[in-house]
Amino acid sequence: MWQVIGQTRAVSLLQHSLESGTLAHAYLFVGPEHVGKMTLAINLAQALNCEAAERPCLTCPSCRKIAAGGHADVQVIGLTRNEDETEAKLIHIEQIKEIQHSANLPPFEGHRKVFIIETAELLSSDAANRLLKTLEEPPDNVTFILLTVNDRLLPTTVVSRCQRLELPPLSINTAASALADNCGIEPERARLLAGLSHGCPGWAITASNNDTLLQQRNKGLDQQLEIINADYEERFAYAAQLAARFSQNRGAVYEILDLWLDYWRDLMLVKLGCYDMITNIDRKDELVELATSYRLDQIKAFIDTIGSAALQLRQNVNARLALEVLMLDIPLKKEGGVKYG
Ligand SMILES: [Zn+2]
Repeated sequence: MWQVIGQTRAVSLLQHSLESGTLAHAYLFVGPEHVGKMTLAINLAQALNCEAAERPCLTCPSCRKIAAGGHADVQVIGLTRNEDETEAKLIHIEQIKEIQHSANLPPFEGHRKVFIIETAELLSSDAANRLLKTLEEPPDNVTFILLTVNDRLLPTTVVSRCQRLELPPLSINTAASALADNCGIEPERARLLAGLSHGCPGWAITASNNDTLLQQRNKGLDQQLEIINADYEERFAYAAQLAARFSQNRGAVYEILDLWLDYWRDLMLVKLGCYDMITNIDRKDELVELATSYRLDQIKAFIDTIGSAALQLRQNVNARLALEVLMLDIPLKKEGGVKYG
C-alpha cells in the first residue's frame, strides 16, 4: 500500500517495475516541495525490503523499521548542520564517500540497501562527481533515490544515470478530496489547505496538525493589508525590515512574496468573477471588498511586479532596492487612497 497521495503514474510505474523485476538502480524524483517525494522514496525503500507478498505492506517489521528511520540498510542523506547550528549550504563530498563505503558492503538486515539523497540539487560539484562514479558502476543490491525540486540544477551526467520520475502538484480538487478522505479533514478546511499548499499535500497535512503554519499565514496577510494602506515611509521601513530578514533567512521572504502573489491573484479572480478558483477562500469577503478599490489592469500589473521582485531576489540583485520598488508599485486605491507621508 503506497502512502503517497496522488502520483498514480509514478506509483504504477514503480509497482510494475517491482513486479516485473525491472527496477532501475537509481531514481530521480522531481517535484515541488511537499508534493510527496520523500514519502514515495520511503515507500519504495519499504517495497524493496518488505517481507510480505503485497509490497510495501507497511506492517511487517522491516516496513515499520524503515518508517521509523531505524533500518540499517536505508539511509537518508541531506544537508547537515554546521557547528554554529546553521544549515550547510551544500551536500559535501565526505557524505558521498560514506555512502560509497557503505554501498560496497552487503545489506545488513534487509534485501537491498537504499540511499535517499534529499535536495540533490545541493550536491557540491565534488560530491556530484563522486556520486557519478558510483552511479556509473553501481554495486549489486543497492538503489539510489535522488530527490530534487529542479533537476536542471543537477549535472546532466548524474541525471542521465537515473530513471527520472516527475511528481507534479495535484489539482486543488484532487488534493482537497484526498485530504478529506485520507486524513479526515473537514471538506471546507481541506479545500482551504489544498489551495494554500498549491496541490502539495505534505504542507497541507502539516498545517492541519499544527496551527502555527496557518497563524503565520494569517499574520502575513494581515501585515500585507496594513502595508497596502500605509504611507510610503512605513512601506520603506517594511522593505528595509524584509531586506534585513532576507540576509538571514531567504526562505521566509520568499514565503511572504508567495502570500502576496496568491492574494493578488485572488483579487484578479474576484475581479473576473471566478470566485470558485480563489486560494484564500476564508478571506473571500475581504477580497471582494478590496477588489472594488482597484482596476483589473492595476491588479495585473502588480502581480507582475511581485513576480519580478521574487525573480530579482533569486538573481541576487540588491534585495532592499528590489523590495523598495515593490513597495512603490503597490497600486493606488480608487477611494481613500494611500496617505502620502
Ligand atoms: Zn512490509
